[in-house]
Amino acid sequence: MPEDNNSNTRKFIGVWFECCHTYGRLYKNKEGTLYRGRCPKCLRPIKVPINAESEKATNRRFFRGS
Ligand SMILES: [Zn+2]
Repeated sequence: MPEDNNSNTRKFIGVWFECCHTYGRLYKNKEGTLYRGRCPKCLRPIKVPINAESEKATNRRFFRGS
């Protein structure tokens, strides 16, 4: 898969939910300021601000929910 350097085109990120040890997705909000979603098992909401650190995390494909 080609590397996507334009974060504006990224619609979601894959995340690892440590609470339930499962994978899920976080979708970018329409303002493009954060990713948000819920753990697919316990429905715990999670938000990830879009900044240099989270973009670095998405380059690893997974962001650990905390
Ligand atoms: Zn959970």
